[in-house]
Amino acid sequence: MYMNTSNEHIQAFIDKVYKKVKPNKSGNVATYIPQLAKADPNLFGICFVTCDGRVFKAGQSNKTVPIESISKVFSAAMAADELGVNVINEKIGNMGSSLPFNSVIGAVLTPTHTINPFVNQGAIATTSLFYQKNKEAFRKKILSNMDKYAGRKLSLNKPVYKSEGATNSTNMALSYLLKSFDRFYGDVDDTVDVYTSQCSVNVSAEDLATMACVFATGGVHPHSGDRIISKNAAKYTYRALRGEGLYEYSAKWDTDVGAISAKSGVGGGIFIIIKGVGGIGLVSPPLDKMGNSVRGIQAGTILAKKFNPLFKAHATFCKNKKTRRKKHKKNKKTQRKV
Ligand code: GLN
Repeated sequence: MYMNTSNEHIQAFIDKVYKKVKPNKSGNVATYIPQLAKADPNLFGICFVTCDGRVFKAGQSNKTVPIESISKVFSAAMAADELGVNVINEKIGNMGSSLPFNSVIGAVLTPTHTINPFVNQGAIATTSLFYQKNKEAFRKKILSNMDKYAGRKLSLNKPVYKSEGATNSTNMALSYLLKSFDRFYGDVDDTVDVYTSQCSVNVSAEDLATMACVFATGGVHPHSGDRIISKNAAKYTYRALRGEGLYEYSAKWDTDVGAISAKSGVGGGIFIIIKGVGGIGLVSPPLDKMGNSVRGIQAGTILAKKFNPLFKAHATFCKNKKTRRKKHKKNKKTQRKV
């Protein structure tokens, strides 16, 4: 089936998905960060930004949630861009994980300890790659990097930052563990504090879709046309994220939607990068047991499948195969006649 890419068709499809998924009330908002327990379980927003800058929205697409784990993608991308892909590969690595995103056992037993840049171990260590003594300059470096992707100044959710800062013993423990393995690259207290603020930045579905789209274009902002990161760093991020962004659900996602990179956060956000097509942003706080937004995964799966160019290539391939078969039959008939 070819995708009709007219604005009306895309908007109608997104509206249909929104209506279908909205009544799904399953899942629970995160509670291990006390402030996240106050999130509105009814909040649901979808946005799709195409590589040519078109924007499609449904529901509360401009209401924000804390970005949480999705922030890890931007620090990893900055490391690939500014320090080099070989540096992030060596200092953090990219191993699969079937354990929860902040597993202490994972940090001990995984040979690299840092695992990958998208679980807490590798993510906090990635932030530590930018450590500098001046903590506010360090924070600004990490936070302002995300503004470039969003194309606007993102605000810090202070209550979430404070709440997470007061309850982040697991992240502190993970960081000290990594330090003991020589896999942490800055001061633990300052780095965990900056990491906590990077996770507490507010984003809407529209921000997430725009930010995802920067990777979909290969590093260029879909609205301004400015280059945000090198093509090579965008490629690294897209590839490294594949099979890692949705925790233990990642392999199933990959099988279901076909090679599309996505990242979720415990604030209820999900962003999906469809290379050469665009970015999808979804916001809905109730999470499944793995920590992914329930409505986000349900709607994201339908939308990603629909907009996946690989499915189109497959359709083209099938169509060509049919035409080839038809031609072949016709040729055979004519040959027989001769
Ligand atoms: N800030 C959260 C943490 O470090 C992010 C986790 C997540 O979104 N999976 O625990």
